[in-house]
Parts: sequence; C-alpha cells; structure tokens
Amino acid sequence: MQTTIKRRKLGRTGLYVSELSFGAMNLRMLKHFDEAHAMVNYVLDQGVNLIDTARAYKGDIAPGVTLESERVVGQVIRERTDLDEPVVIVTKGHAYTIPDLEKDLADSLKALGVSGKGNLKIGDNRIKLVYFIHGISTERWETVKTSGVLDRLQDLKKEGVINYIGFSSHYPFASEIKEAIDTGIFDVVELPYNIFNRSLGEDGDINLFEYIHEQDIGLINMKAFNGNGMVPLYQVIKEHITIDYQVMLRFCLTNPCMTTVDAGTRYPEEFSLDMQVAAGERYTEKQLSELRTEADKVASRMKNVCRECMHCLEKFACPQQIDFPRVLSLYSRYSFLSWQGKDTSELSAAYQQLDQNGADCIECEECLPWCEYRLNIPELLKKADQVL
Ligand code: SF4
Ligand code: SF4
Repeated sequence: MQTTIKRRKLGRTGLYVSELSFGAMNLRMLKHFDEAHAMVNYVLDQGVNLIDTARAYKGDIAPGVTLESERVVGQVIRERTDLDEPVVIVTKGHAYTIPDLEKDLADSLKALGVSGKGNLKIGDNRIKLVYFIHGISTERWETVKTSGVLDRLQDLKKEGVINYIGFSSHYPFASEIKEAIDTGIFDVVELPYNIFNRSLGEDGDINLFEYIHEQDIGLINMKAFNGNGMVPLYQVIKEHITIDYQVMLRFCLTNPCMTTVDAGTRYPEEFSLDMQVAAGERYTEKQLSELRTEADKVASRMKNVCRECMHCLEKFACPQQIDFPRVLSLYSRYSFLSWQGKDTSELSAAYQQLDQNGADCIECEECLPWCEYRLNIPELLKKADQVL
C-alpha cells in the first residue's frame, strides 16, 4: 500500500507502523454500518497499518442494532484484496482473571474473524494481533498480578494465538503503569497524552514515555484531543487560547517517544486533516515550551471534566439508572459557559428533561472505580443538580 504517512518502529515488535493510527472506538458513534465500513476502508487506503479496537467498543446505533467495532474492522479487512502487508490490530479485553481473559479473547478472535496460529489471518489477509489488558487501574492491576493472567498471556503468545502483549491505562495510574512495564512482558503500551495533560510524560514524577521508549516498547498515544467530551468545550476555550486541533495533534506527533498517535476520527474528512498535519513540520523546543505555557492558562479548568469517553458504561450501570456521563457533560458545559458569562438555559432545559438526574444519586459510590479519570461522580452530580 502506497502511503504518505511516515512510519515508526513499534518498539521490540520490530514492526513499522504509520505514525497516525486509527482508533476504532468512535465507530460506535456513527449511525450506519456503511459509514463505519467506509471509514475503516478510507484509513487503509491512506496507508494506515495499525487499527486500535477493543471488545468493549460497541454501541447501539439504532434501537436494537449494535455496532461492534471489532466486527466491522474484521469484516473490512476480510473483504480487502489489496493489502500487501499485515495490518497490526490492537484489541483489548477486560482480561483481569483467567476466565475473563479466555472469554474475552475467544469473543474477540471470533468477532474479528481471526484464524491460524502464529501466522494469523483474517480471510486471506495476514495480520499481527496485539492483545491488550484493557484499562489497568489500581484495583485491576492488583487482580492481574495475582490471577495468573500474565503467565497465561505469555503462553498464548508462545502458542501463536496472539502475536504480542500490551496494556492500556489512564492518567491516575502512573505507579501501576511503571510496575506493569517493569514486569518486562509487555511489547506495546497505550497511554493518554495531550498538550493539556502531560502528567504521564514531561510533567510526571518520572517521564513514563521516555522510560517506556528506552525499553524498546511500542507506545500508542491516545486522547491526543483530550477526549470526545472536550469538543464542545474547545468552542468556548478557543476565545482564550490559540491552540486548535492541528496544534494538539502536532504537539503529540512531535514527541519522539510516541510510536503512533491514535486518531479517533469518525469521518474521512477529519482523518484527511490529520494527515495534512502529519505531513507537516514538527515543533521546535522553543515552540513546545511556548505552547505548554499557553495550554496551562486553561489546563486547570479541565480538571473534573467528564471526557465522555464512556469507558465507565462499558461494564457498569448505575443502580439508580442515572446516565451520569450525560449529567456530568452538561455540568462541564455549564461551567465553561458560565465562566464566559454566556447563556446556559439550553443546558438547564436538557438537564430537566432527563428521566433520572443528579438528585437521584444515593451516593453509593459504586461508580467511582469505573471512571478512568477518577472523577468524584456523586459530588459532581450534586453540584450539577444545584446549578442546572
Ligand atoms: S454514586 Fe450515584 S451515580 Fe454513582 S452509582 Fe451510586 S447512585 Fe449511581
Ligand atoms: S464518568 Fe469518567 S469514565 Fe465515564 S465518561 Fe466521564 S470521564 Fe469517562
């Protein structure tokens, strides 16, 4: 496949992958299967050779119609007749115990349509499968360390059921990430990094990205745009700072520790813009320093903001049936608009139409371990109810 996207080495795997990869999580936000297929075909046409999906990336695109990201990715790859190199597929499972690992992996292989051992294929096309433990957190890492999952993953790799082992994690879990890296078993890691939150990188106690890079581990940069929930907030922020999406992406691409930036786009036009950025210059040290200063003007306002990543709802439902990410997102928008002295009446109207809202929260705190950003959900719900 001809490509204009540069490639970088995916650590010790020795594979070379496009520095822009495709995050297939947002396929579930589309309305039609055709759009999802067209998106995956488009990125393959552009020479993207790493697709990042997960067992949990699925959602109802119409009443009773579920789109599974893995299934779409598998179907598109199976139908392609022009792929002249293996596509690298990252998929993830909530694989913290051996029974969960066996089940999630079997379901993923089936949904993707993977066959073979060692030389894995989807249809007639060769692939490389990187299997991830999804979303390591404090509690999950404690389970993983003692459940035998790490040994089982290494056996699966030796047997050729998967080709490489990886994990993903989020900002609050720097010490668990470091501990996981130090096991030496992981070939690829996926972590969040963007201009507004560099806490796992240059702003951390240790720069984990440098640490990972030094150990020849492939590094996938997620959340380059800080999460879906930030999109409407940037419309407000842009009156205060000069940072736009192009700047955010270029900032991540400039980091030499990142193997690839996972662009979670939904439409070809968005990906085309990302490609233009990738084809351009990288920032100098002086420019990076100026950008960090600029971003820090608003970074504190982004704490306690729900990113609408929906990771919490992949495995959890509030016993009071509160759609808490929805309430939190309305509250975030309210906070940003009221900071600007702008009209917030539409947000209040939307809040009041919810069947369950912040007032229904019984503060059981069951949701807390499920939030990747460790937001204090009951407290934010209470604040939302007061103002909305
Ligand atoms: S703390 Fe509130 S939002 Fe969270 S699970 Fe309990 S009732 Fe639901
Ligand atoms: S509550 Fe947390 S995990 Fe859930 S959507 Fe918001 S930021 Fe994501």
